[in-house]
Amino acid sequence: SDSLNGEVKPRILLMGLRRSGKSSIQKVVFHKMSPNETLFLESTNKICREDVSSSSFVSFQIWDFPGQIDFFDPTFDYEMIFRGTGALIFVIDAQDDYVEALSRLHLTVTRAYKVNPDISFEVFIHKVDGLSDDHKIEKQRDIHKRANDDLADAGLERIHLSFYLTSIYDHSIFEAFSKVVQKLIPQLPTLENLLNIFISNSGIEKAFLFDVVSKIYIATDSSPVDMQTYELCLADTHEAGLPYDKESMAIIHLNNTTVMYLKEVTKFLAMVCFLRKDSFERKGLIDYNFHCFKKAIQEVFDVRLKVQQNRKLLSQR
Ligand code: GDP
Repeated sequence: SDSLNGEVKPRILLMGLRRSGKSSIQKVVFHKMSPNETLFLESTNKICREDVSSSSFVSFQIWDFPGQIDFFDPTFDYEMIFRGTGALIFVIDAQDDYVEALSRLHLTVTRAYKVNPDISFEVFIHKVDGLSDDHKIEKQRDIHKRANDDLADAGLERIHLSFYLTSIYDHSIFEAFSKVVQKLIPQLPTLENLLNIFISNSGIEKAFLFDVVSKIYIATDSSPVDMQTYELCLADTHEAGLPYDKESMAIIHLNNTTVMYLKEVTKFLAMVCFLRKDSFERKGLIDYNFHCFKKAIQEVFDVRLKVQQNRKLLSQR
């Protein structure tokens, strides 16, 4: 079933000054572009770039703030767009002077909040690859303080901003995106719970639910995420999407003791499991448990779809 379609997809806006890195982020996360290729991305002059990945769990839109274009542009129905937005990511170039970016952030957040107070506001302090750890923390502290001071001065301290240090040159951009998307999934605790049950019944060490198109994970079981494991997922699923065979699965032997097992859950989601080679001898059991997991996931999202449809009917009355 396609119940993960259409309006049930979490919608994310990517905003920020021209050249802050928005297109690069989108290309690297959603189009598997290598970070170095982004050096040759051309700037566009469009205000709004519609970029919805039809096969992804999330949907996307990118907004630039080039030059003078602003919210008073009558061709720009920002209210409608904010109303349908789950998260607004504002990208700040940490290698550049960020005074103007901060004032844009403030304007954007206050406008968006007025239209839709449920939006989660996510600030990516971006391009931190060139900075030392101390310098990163220093930048984050400064940007955090200034942005919140601006909100406090406007009497809007109830607006919550989350901050992330990101770069397209390492996994930080995927990690930040995962966190942003996870906030938009009301069923996250249910998904985590299902993953916990699945791994403990199957002798699996760690399982991730991945968005098929990007490499962001939308849920994992509650054992701690080991960054090396996560990076392995990223590296091995990198090339041309997921290396599925005709049964929508793949088995990758990582070393003498560990196996990575990939399976398609829905059109948008894949499960990546890590397990010991000897546990994999019970593949029949794992596949049976996976089948149950998949059915449960489908039910979770079917319920969500029905709730949303009912809400829509009610709001139209
Ligand atoms: P946009 O106008 O916001 O879409 O910005 P672009 O995506 O065109 O990026 C502008 C420049 O920043 C490009 O040359 C990118 O290669 C560079 N860039 C983007 N992300 C990063 C990053 O994480 N680190 C570094 N060092 N450069 C980046």
